[in-house]
Amino acid sequence: MRPVKLVMPVKLLPTPEQAAALHATLRTCNALVDRISGQAYEKKVFSRAGLQKLVYAELKAAGLSAQPALHVIRKTADAYTTLRAQIRYRRAQARRRAELQKKKAAGSRSAARRLARRKAREGRHAAHVNHKIAKRIVADAQRTGRGIALEELSGIRGRVRLGRHQRATLSTWLFHQLGTYIAYKARRAGVPFLQVDPAYTSQTCPRCGHVARGNRPHRDHFCCRRCGLAGPADHIAAVNVRRRARTVWAFVSMPDPLPAQGKGDATPARQPAAQGSATRCERPSHELARPRPRS
Ligand SMILES: [Zn+2]
Repeated sequence: MRPVKLVMPVKLLPTPEQAAALHATLRTCNALVDRISGQAYEKKVFSRAGLQKLVYAELKAAGLSAQPALHVIRKTADAYTTLRAQIRYRRAQARRRAELQKKKAAGSRSAARRLARRKAREGRHAAHVNHKIAKRIVADAQRTGRGIALEELSGIRGRVRLGRHQRATLSTWLFHQLGTYIAYKARRAGVPFLQVDPAYTSQTCPRCGHVARGNRPHRDHFCCRRCGLAGPADHIAAVNVRRRARTVWAFVSMPDPLPAQGKGDATPARQPAAQGSATRCERPSHELARPRPRS
């Protein structure tokens, strides 16, 4: 007799207490991945072995046993591997494109043809990558019962400052495309999706509410000038986006019907981010979450 392999989907039926415990573990793990990825970025350590040396003791101290601790490290390292591969790929593409452009400028018609083909291929590749990213984000949100908040799309392009290498190669519309895919997939999956006002998300302190350009002395770093809270700039911005989304969500999910403009929260007035007058900069963060009249 040949052995037969059966694959069975199994649904766990935990007691409420077990479910709560599982949920707590999942949350702890996710929070730790966040924290560790911040450390990895600060210290520029991205390998599994390096991260293990750097944070294993800390993870154990945070209450994780060996298996989950290694899982957290693996998850962080894998995420960075993917990210770095993407960046390398884009740089290589940009180099080849530049070569062809030089030849095209010199009058080569085959270079012009190849350039056009390459452009189409890169576009397809980018769309494919964006689909994968969007799918993953929406699936994670669905699995963990959470919603997704993004900065209002036009704002993402305004806020993100790209490095010298990326600036030339990464088309701004890719961000827009990713946002569109996430919005579409989230709605299809029934995952709450909100867009929030992007103004000052990278200059607002999520702990004390202080808003100032000087809070972000460097593209990568946030450091509150009033209370001293510091961290990776993108992470801080994400915390602000989440906070604004929660405010907006409280509005849109209120049981009583709201006046007509209440709905406007999800598509707030456009504001070029990171450029505001000094008086605006002094507003507390919760005020910024509300829609402003279009000017
Ligand atoms: Zn602060």
